[in-house]
Amino acid sequence: DIVLSLHGIEKTYAKGRADAVPVLRGIDLTLRAGEVVALVAPSGAGKSTLLHIAGLLDSADTGKIGIDGTDMTGANDRRRTAARRTSIGFVYQFHHLLPEFSAAENIILPQLANGTSEKDAAARAASLLDRVGIAHRASHRPAALSGGEQQRVAFCRAMANSPRLLLADEPTGNLDPATSDQVFSTLIALARETGLGALIATHNLDLAARMDRILRLDAGRLIEATPQGGAQP
Ligand code: ADP
Ligand code: ADP
Repeated sequence: DIVLSLHGIEKTYAKGRADAVPVLRGIDLTLRAGEVVALVAPSGAGKSTLLHIAGLLDSADTGKIGIDGTDMTGANDRRRTAARRTSIGFVYQFHHLLPEFSAAENIILPQLANGTSEKDAAARAASLLDRVGIAHRASHRPAALSGGEQQRVAFCRAMANSPRLLLADEPTGNLDPATSDQVFSTLIALARETGLGALIATHNLDLAARMDRILRLDAGRLIEATPQGGAQP
């Protein structure tokens, strides 16, 4: 099962202008179900660009993209939005939880947008919150939660619609090491349980070393770094 395939992806910002910025120069990537892969690169190397293209939020200049076995190259907005909602989960460094809604509601809302019944959405939110150890925080608003708790809610929200592909951009970047470790362990456990594929941009080499593979983004190309023994929750 291949959840993400990129072939020959190229991206240049301000293409054709004097200040053109070539960022991706031929990216090939195959991500299988259950795989947790680190994307490591210095700031400005193009990690966010790559994640946005993989998440169908931005388009490549050239190259092919497949999501969960479906070719999405050149797909229109309607198909891209549908694929984002059903197949892709996003986690960011800053969680972007809705401040006026409780932890549970933040996980329920994307399910309602997808046509899930309120009852089923609430049950899934409760089960996900329980899974990450913060069931007792379900009715709290984000501001009343610690950074680690907020980030765990963000993971639950990303997992709400049972995506096949999880894309994370520095998901533990603003957390202290112990909390970051805890959030990451949850991520790997969830990925393993549900068989999704995860591509995780991180500066944290200790965390990267615990993933199945490490990909380095260097001068616009992906380079396979050290093969690992398998991700350790
Ligand atoms: P990273 O996530 O690794 O920090 P980004 O993908 O955000 O890298 O950015 C890669 C390069 O592309 C940087 O040089 C950045 O300044 C440039 N860039 C990113 N977005 C845009 C944009 N919308 N317009 C022009 N240049 C951009
Ligand atoms: P909705 O109307 O349900 O928010 P969207 O198509 O706007 O549907 O978003 C679908 C998914 O893509 C959501 O998970 C959302 O968080 C994510 N998303 C949308 N726009 C952006 C963006 N500019 N940057 C990052 N993620 C985005």
